[in-house]
This record gives sequence, structure tokens and C-alpha cells, in this order.
Amino acid sequence: MTTFSDIKQLVLKNNPNADTTMLELAYDFAVKAHAGQKRLDGTDYIQHSLETAYTLAHMNLDLSTVIAGLLHDVPEDTPITLEEVAKEFGPEVGKLVKGITKLSKLKYRGLERYAENLRKMFVAMAEDVRVVLIKLADRLHNLSTLSALPPVKQQRIARETLEIYAPIANRLGIGELKGQLEDLAFKYVYPEEYAWVVKTSTSRMEDQISYSQDLIKEVIKLLEKNNIAYNSVHGRVKHHYSLYKKLLRKDMDISKVYDLVALRVIVPDVAACYQALGAVHSRWKPMTGRIKDYIAQPKPNGYRSLHTTVFCDQGRIVEFQIRDQQMHDNAEYGIAAHWKFKDSSKAQLSIPPEQLKWIKELLDWQKEITDNDQYLKALTIDIFQNRIFVFTPKGDVIDLPEEATPVDFAYHIHSDIGNHCSGARINEKIAPLETKLLSGDLVEIIVDKNRGGPSEDWLKFIKTNQAKNHIKSYYKKKRRNFLNIFSRTKE
Ligand code: MN
Repeated sequence: MTTFSDIKQLVLKNNPNADTTMLELAYDFAVKAHAGQKRLDGTDYIQHSLETAYTLAHMNLDLSTVIAGLLHDVPEDTPITLEEVAKEFGPEVGKLVKGITKLSKLKYRGLERYAENLRKMFVAMAEDVRVVLIKLADRLHNLSTLSALPPVKQQRIARETLEIYAPIANRLGIGELKGQLEDLAFKYVYPEEYAWVVKTSTSRMEDQISYSQDLIKEVIKLLEKNNIAYNSVHGRVKHHYSLYKKLLRKDMDISKVYDLVALRVIVPDVAACYQALGAVHSRWKPMTGRIKDYIAQPKPNGYRSLHTTVFCDQGRIVEFQIRDQQMHDNAEYGIAAHWKFKDSSKAQLSIPPEQLKWIKELLDWQKEITDNDQYLKALTIDIFQNRIFVFTPKGDVIDLPEEATPVDFAYHIHSDIGNHCSGARINEKIAPLETKLLSGDLVEIIVDKNRGGPSEDWLKFIKTNQAKNHIKSYYKKKRRNFLNIFSRTKE
């Protein structure tokens, strides 16, 4: 169980200059506010506030966010008001606690509320992503104490986690939190599948963990022999839910999963990543087609790393993940990594704008869709489906949903390019407009300035709402003009 001093130590470890006076005041304030309250599992309520704040401190977030984590349930569950919290701890903490209080009023009841929850979540996220990070930390602890709740509530919370919170954590690039949320929810939502995955993988995992302990020593020797500096070499055990999803794609055959235990090599800089990759390949033969350079071509959520699968001794097959410290922090904490050691007043500014662009785009089109059923369908495609990344001829990376076509690509670049697109070259070969793009494709749109406009047939195969909306509004306008001309001719 986490104590206040654990949090304080962690905050000081991350930032030795942090002024922890406010943190202590917030703890005393929360203790008093929640005095006498118990959670359903019998623990003191303050324990929940401590665990939430600890997760946030562990993600290396700024002090205001950790303080807001301690206070996040005060206005909702005690007589103390938001105004009092803001008066005591200042406008920034006040704003964060207000955001989280608004979100906690949402309950998952049927389609209507579900859609409404998502809308509010994205509005909160666009206002200040930290609100959603607090919500994720709060959910993580609620899941770990889920067994104390009645089964109906367990199902609701676990399902909502798999459907909403984990995908959001993934989209924000917080790999570690996403994995933990999914694993905790997995056993409630799919108990039989969970039991099966545990049974199928445990002995294999244990065997690979013990093998990788020897391998780690050998890798360290290899790096030292080649004069390659490293920060750490460690094993990473695959999360159960992520393993389950992979098994679904591999005919449920666990021998086809090579990264049950992957070896992570963390080095100081990009050059050392490639040197380490070279050293690994000179020692063990790489498997064809399994070398992935996510440094040169990052994943849409910003993930960067070198991956390779090699044949080790005794017929072992091992995946290596090689990255520098910054890439590693980004992979574990995603968007949260940008608050690291920054003072809170500059926190918002330090997020690269492209990481938040998709949230803004989402807000734009969600205003236009009033039908909840349609909204959820659209959202499933735009956010919760896997993303691919493709390249423009200039080498810019464009992030699209899976199965997107050159027409989606064209509208993503500009509506004029979409409206006048007459063909496409994919990897320098002419390809039909309905071709499904794949990650890594180089896409060039052939524009015909004389083209009248988009074809309504495109609506049958395009994926993004952006493209659909542009085509629909083009035709709406055209019909209006036609009617105008028509009525004029009649006169
Ligand atoms: Mn809470």
C-alpha cells in the first residue's frame, strides 16, 4: 500500500527542486475531507487518493497534477466544494479537479450515455489532457479493487475500460498504463479466455524469463566489447490481453508469438541504437522481414524504437527492442512524458502540437454529428481502430485509419486535392482510388484541375469522416445550385 511519503519521495526523485509544501497541504486537506469514509473493499478512502496520485507521480507528471490526484474525489464525495479547493490550491489545481469532477458525474448507461461520455471525455482532453490522465490513474486503482463491487458494476467498469479508457491511453501513447488497464479488465470481461491465456502462457513465459536472464548478461558483454554505451538491458513480459489479441491473429498458436518476453536495450542516443542493432545482428542471425525501424518511420501514436527478431542459441527466437532513453520514456508515458521536469505553467505548451491534432479534429466533426449511433460508428473507425501511417512524396507522415484509401489521403491533405483527385500512385505505381493503403506506402495523388468534383461512388469505399463530410457537403451545395438554376429557368 502506498503511503504519502512514497509519493513525496518519488516527486523529489523526479524533480529534486520540487517545492513539496503544497503537496503536503493537499494530503492533509484530503485526509480531513475523506475522514471516516471507507471504500467498498474496507480500506480508508484516502488510500484511493494516494494510489491515484502515486500513479501520476510515477508517470513523472508535474506537481499540480499529482496534487489534483490527491484531491480528485473531494468535491464529488465530501461536503467541500470546488470553489474551496480552488481557493486553497490555486486556479490550476482547481481547474484540474473541476475537470475530473465533471467527468466523474458521467455514468455508463446504454448507448445515449455512452456516446455522451465520450464526447465529454474528448472535450476535457482538448481543454487539458492532464484531466484525462488523472481519470486513467483513478480508473487503474478502481480496477485493482474491483472484486469488492457487485458483479453488475464489475462488468460495467471493466467493459468501459476495454472500450474507452484503454484505447484512449493507447492513442495518447501511454503503453504501460494501457497494458495494465487492459489486463485488470480482461479477467472480468472475458473470464474464460483470460484463464486460457494464463494457462497456455505461464510455463512458457517462466521458461523464457529464466532464459532471458542469461541472455541479458551476454548482451551486456556484447555491448561492452563493442564500446556501445547503454542505460539498461532488461526483459519485458507481454501483457495478457495484448497476448490474447495477438493469439487471435496467429491461429491461437503460442509458438508463433516471438515477443512473449522481449529484450529491451536502452541506450543514450539514436546513433547508439543503430550500433547496438548492428552488434546484435553480428552475433545472432536476424529473421527475415522482422527488422522494423520505427525510428525512421514512427508509429502513428509516436512510438519510436528498433525491433528485430533473432535466432539465439539452442534454437531460441528472441525479439529485441532497441531505443534511447527519451524514446523509452515516450513509449511508457506517451503524452505524459512531455511534462517531465517542466514547471506546470509551461506544461501545456510543451506538448508537440501534432500529438494533439487528432483531438482537435475529432472535436470539430463531433459537433456536426447529432445522431449517437452514427457518432459511435464514426468514432470506432476514427479513434478506436488501428491506425496506419503513409508518406507524402515529400516524406511527411500521414496518420489514417486502417483500410483508408488514396481518396481519404487526398482529403486529409486538402479538400481541393480531394475534390480534384483523379488517380493515385502508390509506391510509384498507378493504383485504383479504392486501393486499401498499407503502413509505409508512399502515396502521390494525381490531380486533374479540370475535374468537376468528387464522385459520389467514392462514398462506398472511403473510411474517414473527413472525406465523407467533404463529399456530402459538395453534393449538397451542388444540388442547391441546381435547384436555384432550375427555378430560375422556370420563371
Ligand atoms: Mn476516484
